[in-house]
Amino acid sequence: MNPPPFEISPPDLGPWLAGNTGTPGVWRWAASEPGRHVMVSALVHGNELCGAWAVRDLLASGIRPRRGSLTVVLANLDAFARFDPQRPHVSRYVHADLNRLWGDMPWRHTGVEQGSEHRRALELLPHVQASDWLLDLHSMHEPGPPLALTGPLPHHARRAAALGLGALRVADAGHRAGVRLRDHGRYGDAEALDAFALLIECGYHGARASVDVARDAVVRFLESSGAVDAGDLPPDWRQPDVDADNPLLVVTDAVTVGPDSVPSFAQAWKSGDRIAKAGTLIGWNAALPVTTPYDDCVLVMPTLLHARPGATLVRFARRQQMA
Ligand SMILES: [Zn+2]
Repeated sequence: MNPPPFEISPPDLGPWLAGNTGTPGVWRWAASEPGRHVMVSALVHGNELCGAWAVRDLLASGIRPRRGSLTVVLANLDAFARFDPQRPHVSRYVHADLNRLWGDMPWRHTGVEQGSEHRRALELLPHVQASDWLLDLHSMHEPGPPLALTGPLPHHARRAAALGLGALRVADAGHRAGVRLRDHGRYGDAEALDAFALLIECGYHGARASVDVARDAVVRFLESSGAVDAGDLPPDWRQPDVDADNPLLVVTDAVTVGPDSVPSFAQAWKSGDRIAKAGTLIGWNAALPVTTPYDDCVLVMPTLLHARPGATLVRFARRQQMA
């Protein structure tokens, strides 16, 4: 199955590669007024161009925080440097997925030779640990509505709801393969109520609209953090508000591609599809039917594109109205 075409090309990051912190690709400014330490990151995956565009435009706008500090990160520059428009899906990472290396970082103690992303995670670590709020900009393998991934902790979901993003809000625990940046340290601590991390999947990797979603997320996040005031960023970045009564989609199950399986779907599902009846056939995995486990089940990120054994085929979620 072929991915849809790319409508966007990579931005020229030439002037922005150096950073001003001693870490390549990491920019930081501090205000004289106290406030949150806010971080915006892009290119944790090297082929996710919408975040690169939004961060490039943020840097080019000359924005400076009015309160606290603002750190802007172009994360996986080695992978981004390999971006090839003929093969846009192979530059996700060089040696290892940079979004699976966080948390306790068990790989630091294995003695195994580490790759480009392991070195980069250690470079970025002090900047991540110094932040209070984190917006991590991503995009997806397949077309679908934008998703705001809030992690499993309720206070992150509440803060995400307050942003008024036009994205489905998804509470999920991440991946067995390793901890995501958005769940690192205080961002994964239920007691750290002042910490807030949001991973936004802005749409399909190659979709022009994903850049609009990324810019909208940046302006809402920065204004809400108090780092900047309304009107400090270009007015056309903000997309229309959406109904704040959107339910939170709480992921309960993830279906993993079985060994020797060539999975298929019963129809072309997309994120947000809502299935009324338990037991509805979604597709086939390892020669067995995949069915919805309960009534009123919502599908999250169904994909056959990288459906190798061990990869996630689809997640099931319950709708939860915010208290
Ligand atoms: Zn990503």
